[in-house]
Amino acid sequence: MADRINGIHHITAIAGDAKRNLDFYTKVLGLRLVKKTVNFDDPHTYHFYYGNHGAEPGTILTFFPWAGIQQGRRGTGQATETQFSVSADAFGFWVERFKQHNVTYNNPARRFNEEYLTFLDPDGLKLQLVGNSSDKREPSHNGDIPDDKAIRGFHGVTLTLEHYERTASLLTDVFGYTLEQTEINAHRFTTDASANAAVVDLVSVPGEHRGLNGGGTVHHVAFRVENDDVELRFREKIANLGFTITPQIDRQYFHSLYFREPGGILFEIATDNPGFTVDEPFESLGQSLKLPPQYEQSRAEIEARLATLD
Ligand code: ZN
Repeated sequence: MADRINGIHHITAIAGDAKRNLDFYTKVLGLRLVKKTVNFDDPHTYHFYYGNHGAEPGTILTFFPWAGIQQGRRGTGQATETQFSVSADAFGFWVERFKQHNVTYNNPARRFNEEYLTFLDPDGLKLQLVGNSSDKREPSHNGDIPDDKAIRGFHGVTLTLEHYERTASLLTDVFGYTLEQTEINAHRFTTDASANAAVVDLVSVPGEHRGLNGGGTVHHVAFRVENDDVELRFREKIANLGFTITPQIDRQYFHSLYFREPGGILFEIATDNPGFTVDEPFESLGQSLKLPPQYEQSRAEIEARLATLD
């Protein structure tokens, strides 16, 4: 069996106020808070993971909320649209909901034969709902959103690039994706290795300004592999192509490699193992603050300095 990249594992973005972020993703979008932990490189900052009921890779959007962070800017060398899938008949429900909650949104439009609805989170992060009635993943059942209208997980991600060709080669030659369709300057790549979260759209805009990391922008996109053995073989392949790639890093819930793709976007490869139930039961995921072993001895001090959430 050939090694596969099984679509997107998670996407990580930068936010400002922690409570505002938590309220938007759990209450307005109705995602499940799957994990409440800290940034392992900066333990006085939260790291929130939101996902579907099953807390499955392919549904997990994570945030580092830094109060008072400078706003970022969308541009080239960035993941500029995070796409979630919903039932194709859910747009009316979501437009009404966005009006009620003062969410900035555009009228639904079509691209690649799919209807999509673009909206912004409170930090200006650009998100999309894409109509995809074949997505049968179990939604989160969180709050007042009917299951048949709820977000099911990622549909895909849009990467905006100065030039797309070398990124396209990485997707096809190393990650096993196929070019499915081109519309003007947008190129849709998909993989059949996963039923969901299998889309990567490359948008080529030569001459556009570079993106700047900051509030309301994506920090990195993580792709999914089945286990450590597959991950380490990908590491070798990518290193042999001349990319600078990190050693395998233990992220407690998955094991990660990081490298910059040719357009400058930070890519991660993350394993399915060990998963989010490694340090708390499935039923109570996200309810208490989890710290990795190296910070457990400083728990009192860390908890005292983290932002209050209620
Ligand atoms: Zn990550």
